[in-house]
Amino acid sequence: MLKPKQMKAIQLRKLRKIVEYAYRNVPLFKKRFDEAGIKPSSIRTLDDVAKVPFTVKTDLRDNYPLGLLAVPQDRLYALHASSGTTGKPIVVAYTRGDLECWSRLMGRSFDVAGVRKGDIVQNMYGYGLFTGGLGFHYGARAVGATVIPTSTGNTKRQLMLMKDLRTTVAACTPSYMVYLCEASRAEGYMPRTDFALRIGLFGAEPWSEEARKRIEEVFGLRAHDCFGMSELYGPGVAIECDQRNGLHVWSDEFLVETINPDTGEVLEPGKEGELVFTMLSREAMPLLRYRTRDLSRVFEEECACGRYHPRIRRIKGRSDDMLIVGGVNVFPSQVEHVLMNIPGVGDQYQIILSHTDLDRLAVKVETTSDRLNDPKFLKEIQGDLLAVLGINADVALVELGTLPRSEVGKARRVIDLRSKE
Ligand code: AMP
Ligand code: ZN
Repeated sequence: MLKPKQMKAIQLRKLRKIVEYAYRNVPLFKKRFDEAGIKPSSIRTLDDVAKVPFTVKTDLRDNYPLGLLAVPQDRLYALHASSGTTGKPIVVAYTRGDLECWSRLMGRSFDVAGVRKGDIVQNMYGYGLFTGGLGFHYGARAVGATVIPTSTGNTKRQLMLMKDLRTTVAACTPSYMVYLCEASRAEGYMPRTDFALRIGLFGAEPWSEEARKRIEEVFGLRAHDCFGMSELYGPGVAIECDQRNGLHVWSDEFLVETINPDTGEVLEPGKEGELVFTMLSREAMPLLRYRTRDLSRVFEEECACGRYHPRIRRIKGRSDDMLIVGGVNVFPSQVEHVLMNIPGVGDQYQIILSHTDLDRLAVKVETTSDRLNDPKFLKEIQGDLLAVLGINADVALVELGTLPRSEVGKARRVIDLRSKE
């Protein structure tokens, strides 16, 4: 395993090279460096990275589709796109070398989670423009496991194949796995005995420790949190090892920093802030100091698994997912954390924001039928939400199975009616 000193030497060597490369080959970076009055040669130490101007999501949008390419277009082996909620998507490009690097990192991530040759990986991430499908596919190939590319949806068939093909590794969004908990029972399966699942690779959206417990209890598997984003190849940026105490960042390819999202100031390790990544060897679309909007903390202590790769805490959410309700900041992940800790609360919930005279936060919660009309239970949920969020939420209990489930892609649990009112 690489020791911190060796890692830092590798990072510095790669950083200096990529900065030079981005400056020479991407007009946007040259312009930003010139405006900031720095040259690639100004980067002499790892800390000097703080001199490099940030890159933000709108830079990718403004340069749609391929304005940030550092290579001629005929060197591209693949293009993916991340669906933005508004306007044009972000297009990401890969050379052959980029695809190889991405596969290697995915393979490493699978290996760290314990996936081996002989495992049967059911890949329920969406195949297509979304990087999840192919990213996890490449990971399975890299470790020599068997991959079943079921992609999203068609839950009955997923479950049938999971049983009949003796799937050992489930890869999908955590919200879909939570949905499979109830769907498998509804289809008459006994998840622990009918399925042979032993590992789960879950990511692409925030989830909670409580959701992990529920999934593990139902399926008897070990669930690993996987983090990544299209701009940084896709999945495979960070993953939990068997300790599952933070996600190891593959720091030989991604230099990670945390910054204060309001001021841009670099924070000490351990402080919560916005994650910023510099890709250390991307060929097609290098990104320097890319602001992710994702909020987390970085810590650098050696892990009990023996790796020194820095770890990030489970992502709390994106700063742009943060809901501001009457001036109070609320993350959907906090609501999930509260709800999943209450026995009798189902797996599905919905957050609805509205405004008449004041902002209002309503939470619809699925519960077992015996608790539906239980005012004490309702009070308990309200009290727990108040204690964590600091605001009064209107809680409505609804029957199990009544809230919309998403069988495709990431869960959409927040409905904000405020802009329309
Ligand atoms: P996309 O590029 O469409 O795959 O979206 C990437 C975004 O998904 C990240 O910036 C995060 O906000 C979110 N995301 C990915 N993995 C995780 C994870 N393990 N936990 C929380 N959020 C995640
Ligand atoms: Zn570890």
